[in-house]
Amino acid sequence: YKVIEGEKLRKELHNTILELKGNIRVFCRVRPLLPDEGCNTDGKLISYPTSMEAAGRGIELTHNGQKHSFTFDKVFAPDASQEDVVIEISQLVQSALDGYKVCIFAYGQTGSGKTYTMMGRPGYPEEKGLIPRSLEQIFHIRQSQHPQGWKYEMQVSMLEIYNETIRDLLSTNKSPSDATRQENGTPGKQYTIKHDASGNTHVTDLTVVDVQSVEEVAFLLNRAANSRSVGKTQMNEQSSRSHFVFTLRIYGVNESTDQQVEGILNLIDLAGSERLSKSGSTGDRLKETQAINKSLSSLSDVIFALAKKEDHVPFRNSKLTYLLQPCLGGDSKTLMFVNISPDQSSAAESLCSLRFASRVNACEIGTARRNT
Ligand code: ADP
Repeated sequence: YKVIEGEKLRKELHNTILELKGNIRVFCRVRPLLPDEGCNTDGKLISYPTSMEAAGRGIELTHNGQKHSFTFDKVFAPDASQEDVVIEISQLVQSALDGYKVCIFAYGQTGSGKTYTMMGRPGYPEEKGLIPRSLEQIFHIRQSQHPQGWKYEMQVSMLEIYNETIRDLLSTNKSPSDATRQENGTPGKQYTIKHDASGNTHVTDLTVVDVQSVEEVAFLLNRAANSRSVGKTQMNEQSSRSHFVFTLRIYGVNESTDQQVEGILNLIDLAGSERLSKSGSTGDRLKETQAINKSLSSLSDVIFALAKKEDHVPFRNSKLTYLLQPCLGGDSKTLMFVNISPDQSSAAESLCSLRFASRVNACEIGTARRNT
């Protein structure tokens, strides 16, 4: 891998960047090599000159002797801190307070750093991820005296989509747990997704909690983390085999003008994008992988149909896309992180992720039609 930067980037890629005006922004993040990982075939680790500051928007990957170049809105080199990442999304987070529907996805194979990017490293507060940091930003604004007189109410829900079934991660009614029932092959409670006339999504019976402080949300995140389903694959013992969807609804009222806004911040840690052969799945794990592949390909089908302004956008093909329908396309703001492992053994999967992400980045969906 080579993160292209500085002068070379400016010379080689400037024109390409100018042409990329997709509404779905894509940030690529390459995580550092882990202690037990190898190195690139050329004997180097990721070669990017000096620091994150120098890193730009281009990334090159050499696979089977062939060089592949990609350009994104931003490439985070392995030395990027969580703070470096969050600075880049703070405006997007702010726009949820201004009444926008915002979706931030983390896409990539298992072990590429999605959960690290979203949640951080458990037990290392200085490495907390963009979910806790975005919430700190939002609650900081909420608690400060707003100069234009805005007051905000907030509601949180957290769910998981596992084998095309929704699970409420904040439900306290768990005996036996939905997770256990699913593992045993018995379907858990059925949650139904509904869209109302004003374009809002409701999941029947889903727990929605009014929140007043960042500490309350941290407590709920912790509860949700304990409820999540994890499965063992050859790739990562704790790999998440489900999509995790964190939703913050923000209701703003301006006390001087009576104006009202309703924003949504969806933060989504997608299930691993690896293909079947690599995860060595059989039985239940095979079923999981097929469900994951189905929903990830539905997500890309939706994004590409919106980009092509097709009459039929297949939102209903998966729970994930149906749930997020009001937040994809239209006036919504979407950002996708494509997380990449620097290890040579992951090069084929990384290439798939980069190809997918660069197609997403080229999409312009803002004025697309929004059909079901
Ligand atoms: P995923 O969610 O894609 O399966 P993880 O977020 O669990 O991957 O990351 C795999 C491992 O790599 C974890 O041990 C994680 O702490 C580590 N890791 C990922 N990204 C980084 C990073 N940017 N800096 C340091 N460690 C990271």
